[in-house]
Amino acid sequence: MIKKTTHINDPLKLLEILPTVQAPIPEYLYLATSNARCPKAEIFIKEGDYVKCGQQIGIRHAAFFDQPIHSSCSGVFEGYEKHYHRSGKQIDFLKIHNDFKDVWDESVHTRTDEEIAKMTKAEMTEIIKQTASVGLGGSSFPSYIKMQTDRPIKTILINGIECEPYINADKRTMMEDAPKLLEGILFLMQAFNCHDARICVKAIHTEIFVYYNYLLSQDKYKGITMSPMKNYYPQGWEIAMIKQATGIDVPSGHLPSEFGIMNFNSSSVVGIQQAIRENKPVTDRRVTVTGNGINKPANFEVRIGTPVRYLIEQCGGYKNPNMPKVFILGGPMMGASESDEDCICTKTVTSIIVLDHVEHKEEACIRCGSCVLSCPVGLQPVTIMNAMKHTPVDKAKIKMLNPLKCIECGLCTYSCTSKIHVTDYIRRAKTIARLK
Ligand code: SF4
Ligand code: SF4
Repeated sequence: MIKKTTHINDPLKLLEILPTVQAPIPEYLYLATSNARCPKAEIFIKEGDYVKCGQQIGIRHAAFFDQPIHSSCSGVFEGYEKHYHRSGKQIDFLKIHNDFKDVWDESVHTRTDEEIAKMTKAEMTEIIKQTASVGLGGSSFPSYIKMQTDRPIKTILINGIECEPYINADKRTMMEDAPKLLEGILFLMQAFNCHDARICVKAIHTEIFVYYNYLLSQDKYKGITMSPMKNYYPQGWEIAMIKQATGIDVPSGHLPSEFGIMNFNSSSVVGIQQAIRENKPVTDRRVTVTGNGINKPANFEVRIGTPVRYLIEQCGGYKNPNMPKVFILGGPMMGASESDEDCICTKTVTSIIVLDHVEHKEEACIRCGSCVLSCPVGLQPVTIMNAMKHTPVDKAKIKMLNPLKCIECGLCTYSCTSKIHVTDYIRRAKTIARLK
């Protein structure tokens, strides 16, 4: 019997309790000049220039926003090199020769409680913009854009659900950076004049609840509470989280802010805290390096710009060096697969999953309906796939099937009886549906 798929197996679940270790900083760090959201960049430095850690060295431009680029070490800019980005494209990276002195840029400085208490939302938003705080759950969406809303915010939700298997970045951040996370939440409550913030975590993570319930008993954290979430996939999808935490159903095409809700990923809030408290851009992030292809999986604190190859070496290298590998940057359901280890850790890389490549032969669709039953947004993935196989593709029909509702959760592929990469068809259908 076909069943709705709501759980994803995590063969390396125990890794979530391993403390984060600081990965050694490599001799060269590489900073992306562009990404999927920002195709263009202006670079402010020239070859041979000395740069400091946290110094702004360029800016990426998107249609509606900008992303400043900061150096994640001190050292010398040695020019450009092409490497693979999480987007799957080979792009230009700025190559910084680390001098291992960690000389910080003068712009990074600690603000006092009094200075922060006087700040307006507009001032905080500007700091968040200048320090390039983005969604560290994998979206890389600039946090300052969210902050710019004029709508009244009644509830701030902190997304610590991390529902994809293998990834531990948010869980380790919550356990290891709790004071920073809580201070970041207080800053957001101040900015939005909001008195209700809820930290959303799966109820199965009892250790997080015990720890936070203890911390939250302090008066200074008044208004912050824990919100237990169910254990299913994709509970971390913002619409599912909002529904469970508040009972509000945000309809497709609407923003949570229209309903008085603002949500941030937990690691992103730590980035925001560092921006407001220290004027510090995101130069590091937690990355889980795992999978059956490597010897010693680990949770690392990593400098932005670290080569994936270097992190694999820190994990004792490959278990079966002669087997071909698949590298997934991000979670196994929503991450990007790469066939080359020449990738770089950017802010969007929550995990690096190294798998021995096993050929899965796709079989013909048996119309079992498993993908339809499992789709959390109620699409008909098999119908969209079949429409995409038609030549020429009927654009009107694709639009009618509404693929833009797809959240790319990957469940249609995961649940497919015939091992068909259904999600790939839906992604392509989304591109067609966006055409005028
Ligand atoms: S990837 Fe898209 S179409 Fe497939 S199950 Fe998830 S939401 Fe539905
Ligand atoms: S695409 Fe896969 S899951 Fe969907 S109906 Fe066909 S065989 Fe079943």
